[in-house]
Amino acid sequence: MFFVRKRSANAAAATRCFLCESVVLTQRQQHDVGHSVIATGRGVLRLSSSISAGVQTPAERSEKGNKERFEHYMKHVTIMGVPFLHSNQQEFVDLLVNRIEHEEKTFVITANPEVVMQANESPTVMNYLKQATYICADGIGVVKAAQILGDPLPERVTGYDTMVRLLEVGNKKRFKIYLLGAQNETLEKTIKNINQTYPNVDIVGYHDGFFDWNKNDIANEIAASKPDLVFVALGVPRQEKWITENLDQFSKGVFMGVGGSFDVIAGTVKRAPVIWQKLNLEWLYRLLRQPSRFGRMLVLPRFALKVFALKIKGQGAPK
Ligand code: UDP
Repeated sequence: MFFVRKRSANAAAATRCFLCESVVLTQRQQHDVGHSVIATGRGVLRLSSSISAGVQTPAERSEKGNKERFEHYMKHVTIMGVPFLHSNQQEFVDLLVNRIEHEEKTFVITANPEVVMQANESPTVMNYLKQATYICADGIGVVKAAQILGDPLPERVTGYDTMVRLLEVGNKKRFKIYLLGAQNETLEKTIKNINQTYPNVDIVGYHDGFFDWNKNDIANEIAASKPDLVFVALGVPRQEKWITENLDQFSKGVFMGVGGSFDVIAGTVKRAPVIWQKLNLEWLYRLLRQPSRFGRMLVLPRFALKVFALKIKGQGAPK
């Protein structure tokens, strides 16, 4: 279970834990009632605390129990019915690492404007989003929309960056991972590059993304190998559908749709240079490199129009 809330970093005012009200003094400390606290800086102090597995009852550890408490304590920004987690990239990775360490099953969707539009046009896709533990703003369009609608999000939290940072942490903590998706050749290169760059990450299994959905062997393999992280690279919304349909079969692990991230790690697709990312033009870079995405990109102006229509009607992001 996690609690995250902002507090002003006023040196004079002590920052207290929400659970036990003890003062947070250090970067990371264990509190005596079985939860830990993480404090991060730069003007704002953010607390995350987690009841350790030992003190939770099975009911408390159930997905539903966790979700209800999360929703109570964590801030979300809702855009067109999609509740985005109010978190920056590093805090989100910290949150996932903590959940891995407490064996809390987690379903992550990193959603861009295309996903928001799909969800608004398809109840099936909206249902996938409803199953997610966290939905992150993967796209400058979502961050801009939140700003326009009057309830800003801190920054983009992308599937690719989350995956890479989790691999970095996984290399230190020897996480077990499973890779599902992409063409066979891409997957092989992804595995080779992960093995080279993160030698302590244990790849317990993998499967390409072109399989018979009626067979259950991939889910069985994952359930048996119990990875800490399952990266699903089938594209949107296929990856969210696969996770939604199979999540019940697993007892633990972070399950995350990562779109074309295997292609980038394999080196078959180049990610936009940092300058394009900083100028918020990653989408344009992708479009220029893969013109076949043009049809998909037509959703962006429709998304923008809808955001401005909501703004004009005074229907910003509900707080
Ligand atoms: N893919 C897959 N199975 C499929 C369709 C696609 O594994 O049935 C893979 C594809 O090879 C690519 C990734 O899914 O590696 C989709 O990447 P894309 O850039 O389209 O992701 P998105 O933009 O949807 O996040």
